Amino acid sequence: MGSSVAELELAEPYLREVLGTVGLDVEYLRASGNTLFYQDAAGNEVPVLDLACGFGSLILGHHHPEVVARAKELLDSQVPVHAQFSRHSYANDLAAVLNRIIARETGSSEPYWAIFGNSGAESVEISIKHAEMERGARLAELVSEVEAGVAAARAAVGRGATVAPEVFAALGLPATAGFDAVADAVTTRTADLTGRAPVFLALEGGFHGKLVGSIQLTHNEGYRTPFTRLAARCRFVAVGDVAGLRAIVEQESRSLTVLTVDGDAVTGVERALPVFGGFFVEPIQGEAGIRVLPAEFGAEISRVCEETGAPLIMDEIQSGMGRSGAFLASSRIGLRGDYYLLAKSLGGGIAKSSVMLVRGERYQRDFELAHSSTFAKDAFSCHVALKVVELLEADGGAAYRMAAERGAALKSRLEKVRGDFDDVVLDVRGEGLMLGFEFRDQSSSPSAQIAQTAQEGFFGFAVAGYALRTHRLRLFQTASAMNTFRFEPSIFLSDAEIDQIDSGLRDICALLRAADGERLMGT
Ligand code: PMP
Repeated sequence: MGSSVAELELAEPYLREVLGTVGLDVEYLRASGNTLFYQDAAGNEVPVLDLACGFGSLILGHHHPEVVARAKELLDSQVPVHAQFSRHSYANDLAAVLNRIIARETGSSEPYWAIFGNSGAESVEISIKHAEMERGARLAELVSEVEAGVAAARAAVGRGATVAPEVFAALGLPATAGFDAVADAVTTRTADLTGRAPVFLALEGGFHGKLVGSIQLTHNEGYRTPFTRLAARCRFVAVGDVAGLRAIVEQESRSLTVLTVDGDAVTGVERALPVFGGFFVEPIQGEAGIRVLPAEFGAEISRVCEETGAPLIMDEIQSGMGRSGAFLASSRIGLRGDYYLLAKSLGGGIAKSSVMLVRGERYQRDFELAHSSTFAKDAFSCHVALKVVELLEADGGAAYRMAAERGAALKSRLEKVRGDFDDVVLDVRGEGLMLGFEFRDQSSSPSAQIAQTAQEGFFGFAVAGYALRTHRLRLFQTASAMNTFRFEPSIFLSDAEIDQIDSGLRDICALLRAADGERLMGT
């Protein structure tokens, strides 16, 4: 007989098993600030310095006292958490404060309308839908124009007008074809092209979530390709490759023929089709290995969006909420989004929420009637988010200055480690409290054990396990750049914590330099 259900581990046992191979499957029982605690076999609480900090969701750390106090107050006062289809003034207050911040950082006075969601990927999905609604409206206008053109041309032909030879050529028809064939070709082509799914644009290495639509915008093939059949296509652009971006735009661009009457002649004009659903951009790519988008390439993306009409969808899910030293990392490179997506730290480490903000002229108000979620825009997460933003904005933005200052302090220490171990450390990158520390590829390490873990893609896990066991550091690599470790602690990172990181990293570097696979793997 097999095990009874009660004995089986049912919640992602395989993942736990994988974590267990390097000792990462500890159960944390308490969390505070930048620290997680587990209990050792003797029942003692063991602190672990958490440098993943919720994978970027804890700009204020675990259980910030004022966020927790606000949450308790909300529950004690019996705030109606679920009261859908009623007035939500707190959601409006949150949208208003986010608008004031956007205006301050971008200089834009246009309002951004807010649609709330529950997670980062959900806000990406919401933006995909909203952008498609926008595109649908533009397509409908174009279809009306085509239909009006056909009707006017038919009437003109009835009065004796003739179809210009270039129209037949453009439609691939012989010059002897009658007007009905021309009208048919125009209508069929319009129906075909306007019925196609949009093409999205995103950056190589980018990460925009793992749901059905959003996973197609996430570059990592392992996550994306098993599901390509499920959703619209995305073309990935290498960061900095202007010619490549222009080539993709040219390859994907399509136009429709609109018939026009010019005296006795029926001619045609080509109208660009809104092919592109949107351009998804992380101003600091997180899972790609913490890479800051160069301002000049950001400007080129903006130009492409302007020219094609595609909305620039700024995914600030990880980079936003102050981590870069500004509320919006994109504002630091002078980039303004048509849409902004926020999540992660918006929930203050205790709520799950996200928001899409859409620039005034692009907003589709019918979207409010077409889209909803049971849990979105709830009182608890909105009030918690208001508290988080209040804390970030307090004292003239002291939190942003802390992110910049603490980030610079940590970065300079990481750079010193790199300087002392540049045979094993390739790069240190990032802004504020979004930093990446990249090891050199270890797949040719003289240690067979280290080389093998690197070849199998487990190098990051092996280092994470060692850092936890030996230095009580919770280190994780980024999702798509396996040699880069993320440093995304809260703004309360202390000098003592920086010292702990420094000594842990130096030990790991020394171990890799010595190719001591046994020590790394704990064997
Ligand atoms: N976009 C970015 C830039 C992210 O970093 C993430 C999460 N790592 C997501 C989207 C998806 O967010 P979630 O995990 O909340 O679905």
